[in-house]
Amino acid sequence: MAVNQENYTTILKELQDTQTTLVAVSKTKSAEDIRILYDLGQRDFGENYVQEMVDKAALLPSDIRWHFIGHLQSNKVKYIAPFVYLVHGVDSEKLLLELDKQGEKNDRVIDCLLQVHIATEETKFGFSMEELKALAERIQSGAINPGNVRIRGLMGMASFTDDMERVKSEFENLAAIFREMKKLIPSFEILSMGMSADYRIAIDSGSTMVRIGSLLFGAR
Ligand SMILES: *Cc1c(COP(=O)(O)O)cnc(C)c1O
Repeated sequence: MAVNQENYTTILKELQDTQTTLVAVSKTKSAEDIRILYDLGQRDFGENYVQEMVDKAALLPSDIRWHFIGHLQSNKVKYIAPFVYLVHGVDSEKLLLELDKQGEKNDRVIDCLLQVHIATEETKFGFSMEELKALAERIQSGAINPGNVRIRGLMGMASFTDDMERVKSEFENLAAIFREMKKLIPSFEILSMGMSADYRIAIDSGSTMVRIGSLLFGAR
């Protein structure tokens, strides 16, 4: 069995003191593996691929909170809109508006996080600081008024590097942006940052939600 229950217990204990939410990232892992953590009480699970999340949701208990943490294409929003708990990676206005449209169709409000590009690498998705500010202003002024999505906060990924000082400064940068935006947007409560390799640094920097996969389910 690939599930590391010992790590699960340790991580939960660490998170308890800081009231950080654990999203167990189960991408590429089986429904049986998810079930093991579910039976230990875990309810928040993160998936990266639409079809995989839809398939697993059909097999598993309905009180699981499914987090979509991957890059979401607008044309696939409709498949997860009926049940997704939180969309972490909203990285364009187009996607935000599609989530709003599908939220309305499903008669619900879809919670989401705006993904911010904090890594110095070119490859990561997300809004730049300028784009984020521009979007926040457009929402505040009512220029766009998405009633069926609720922006709950920000999500970011640090650079893929061994340089932990750099990771720390990227997380601190995101946390500062988060605090700034929280003053403007009352529904801002979630700062999703930190993965297996860097979750402790993320928590020290102010994360409220970590996304951990390989420490719980083994390497992919
Ligand atoms: C896969 C993934 C994770 C989990 O990564 P681990 O290193 O396995 O903990 C977290 N966040 C995102 C966006 C991911 O794609």
